[in-house]
Amino acid sequence: SQKMPITSINPATNETLQTFTSLSKDESLNAVATAGEAYQSWRKTSFAERKKVLLAFATELRKRSDEFARLITLDMGKRISESRREIEYCAEISDFYANGAETFLADQPMEDVDANAYIRKEPIGVLLGVMPWNFPFYQVVRFAAPNIMAGNAVMLKHASSVPQCAQAIAELFDECGLPKGVYTNLFIPSEFVETVVADSRVQGVSLTGSEKAGAAVAALAGKNLKRSVLELGGNDPFIVLEDADIPKTAELAVKGRVVNAGQSCVASKRFIVVESVADEFLTAFKEGMSKLKIGDPMDEDTTLAPLSSEEAAVKLLQQVQSSIDAGATVLLGGDRPDCEGAYFNATILTDVTPDMPTFDQELFGPVATVYVVKDEAAAIELANRSSYGLGGSVYTKDIQRGQRVAEQIETGMMFVNQPTRSQAELPFGGVKNSGYGRELSSLGIQEFINKKLIHLG
Ligand code: NAP
Repeated sequence: SQKMPITSINPATNETLQTFTSLSKDESLNAVATAGEAYQSWRKTSFAERKKVLLAFATELRKRSDEFARLITLDMGKRISESRREIEYCAEISDFYANGAETFLADQPMEDVDANAYIRKEPIGVLLGVMPWNFPFYQVVRFAAPNIMAGNAVMLKHASSVPQCAQAIAELFDECGLPKGVYTNLFIPSEFVETVVADSRVQGVSLTGSEKAGAAVAALAGKNLKRSVLELGGNDPFIVLEDADIPKTAELAVKGRVVNAGQSCVASKRFIVVESVADEFLTAFKEGMSKLKIGDPMDEDTTLAPLSSEEAAVKLLQQVQSSIDAGATVLLGGDRPDCEGAYFNATILTDVTPDMPTFDQELFGPVATVYVVKDEAAAIELANRSSYGLGGSVYTKDIQRGQRVAEQIETGMMFVNQPTRSQAELPFGGVKNSGYGRELSSLGIQEFINKKLIHLG
């Protein structure tokens, strides 16, 4: 089987930084065998032993934050301050599971039966993570941290565009004393995922990425009877009701849209505004978006970084152009700046209608679509007219009204008066084409667990 290069390209300059060699199929299977053996020992370790490793991992992340943040920015172009925040967040997630796992996985007595019985929560085996480039450390840690604490072994096929991050994470687990094979970085092309998933030692697969990749990997999991968790795309509604604090809401709208240069599954993407406040909102939103400063992501003054790759920028431009061709109005931007790198101008589109191809597509970059609707009921109806169902948010001075609206939106997460965000203690995941299963919180550690009944009569 052929070997393929895996390359880190700096999207701020389109310069090739480093090339890695991918594993052959045989080498991949040898790595699975090593992971399988490591699992047999790791599953017998105490929570205290696992906790020691994961706390050391968190400590090192914080200590070497600048170094790891730099790798993120070089591999995929994120603003350096956002990269540092991502590293700190990974340390928080590691702390959360290191400290919480024993409680989350404690024996559960069966109080409703007339018997001495309980549920023991055991690990299930080697797991494969298939992760995207947009949060190269966070996506990995939110999968690896709970599963390592649960006693599973983790293999990771990272996006081929972030190999420097992929390697650094594996080296760090190693340095923190994790036994060889409990965490393995697999430099493999996506065609090898099938071979790994089919191996009997592998018992589950977790993918974060596009619907296309999710459907392909879920099909492999189904065929081989393996468990799966999917975190896919989103098209989060940001609903502005007539009683919202408009200046503050417009500020949050800018933040919600351009987090990670717009490349977050839970970025606010569809701005649905009640007509009586639409002009006021649009004026403030446009002002905020037009103030964004495009520049080198290593520069602390930059507020709008490049996209992750030249291909991503080309794809986004095609999506925007197809909306414009179909009759959408450009309120701001709509194109790319005239400079080297995968940059895209902050963009606002209005008059996007359901018959346009982009209506139900995720726009992965700093492009907002704004919809003006008659009232709350129309806002809810439009918010739910999506094949996605990841997150969303609603803005109103009346919290009860916000709650009532939030309860009617078909997504996995709804926030009142702030854009969707991720936090170690809060469950994360979606419905519909956004996938299934939950990550983070006490739920995230339950996905790849054998909830085993022990009945003592
Ligand atoms: P992608 O192309 O789906 O890639 C994600 C991962 O899947 C990569 O490691 C990729 O490997 C691999 N992959 C692609 N096709 C595959 C296949 N047929 N079989 C096995 N593996 C395959 O997605 P992306 O463009 O990197 O990421 C952007 C998407 O991820 C967006 O839709 C975004 O919304 C979503 N996302 C979701 C969440 C969430 O939590 N719900 C979070 C972040 C991002 P290669 O790189 O080698 O192709």
